[in-house]
Amino acid sequence: IRKEKISTDTLISGILKGETATLSRAITLIESNNTLHAKQANELIDACIKIKTDSIRIGITGVPGVGKSTFIESFGKLLTTKGKKVAVLAVDPTSSVSKGSILGDKTRMEALVKNANAFIRPSPSGSSLGGVARKTRETIILCEAAGYDIILIETVGVGQSETAVHGMVDFFLLLKLAGAGDELQGIKRGIIELADSIVINKADGANKQAAKIAKIEFTRALHLYPPKQNGWTPKVLQCSAIENQGIDEIWETIKEYIETTGDFFLEKRKQQNKYWLIQTIEDRLKADFYQNKAVQQEFELLLEKVINAKISPFVAAEQLLLIHRKELK
Ligand code: GDP
Repeated sequence: IRKEKISTDTLISGILKGETATLSRAITLIESNNTLHAKQANELIDACIKIKTDSIRIGITGVPGVGKSTFIESFGKLLTTKGKKVAVLAVDPTSSVSKGSILGDKTRMEALVKNANAFIRPSPSGSSLGGVARKTRETIILCEAAGYDIILIETVGVGQSETAVHGMVDFFLLLKLAGAGDELQGIKRGIIELADSIVINKADGANKQAAKIAKIEFTRALHLYPPKQNGWTPKVLQCSAIENQGIDEIWETIKEYIETTGDFFLEKRKQQNKYWLIQTIEDRLKADFYQNKAVQQEFELLLEKVINAKISPFVAAEQLLLIHRKELK
């Protein structure tokens, strides 16, 4: 069904009233690749970004099967019983390839979906991580304007999406599994470094002992990393998402983080805004350059010469950049 065009003011007032239907519609607008929608989307963001809120943005990552959606279900329920409004978003650049996005599966988070104080939005589709991340970042702003206090951003623990999510959250939580004696294997060093807390999930039943050991090992492993700039020592915790055990401690840890890091909380957001400005410019410049027809024509020719050492890569690069600059005039 083709919906009638809706005015920006109507959208903004609906968002501010916390109307989920309007919020969804606004997000769809932001996710649209139609250039006609881009102007209205920018107006929306401009209006919403000015609204001051006390939101907390929490990133949640972990390999498929670790229990992310079960955890979010349990954690989301805890937060809503504490009177919080929770929005769940996803950054999943693989979704367009594998079709179903990580939040697309209807059977996931069944209870949270029905919770009036929770808003769940699947990952936007897109071919580039940059595009998907940008849309998610803008969606965060809309959700905050709509009164959501806690924004949970889920991402799969593969590829570069963790770095993107880390760059848009206040607190980054890594879910891990214990067992098989290979706790420290297969962990990308980079991800451990990003984590503000490592939570060992499925610490239940026959897994309990292994979880305890994993907790000790991860705590030890974390000591090998330099202390964080804000003085925070990442905490290793364990939980059972399915049995709702240890979930409260995770929330307490996040609160402790916010209390102890103080001004750093806002400083980090400022740095993130700067990061996204620069990131966006770089993405756009790159895209402009490679999509430039004149550049494309010359590129192959020069590449051939560069490969065969007929011309230096630096001279070739200068020539291509010059072509691009001339085209801009
Ligand atoms: P995701 O792919 O990371 O989102 O993982 P899911 O939340 O879909 O969980 C994967 C599987 O692990 C499901 O069968 C869950 O029921 C199970 N699971 C999730 N959390 C727990 C837990 O705390 N304990 C146990 N025993 N199983 C869990």
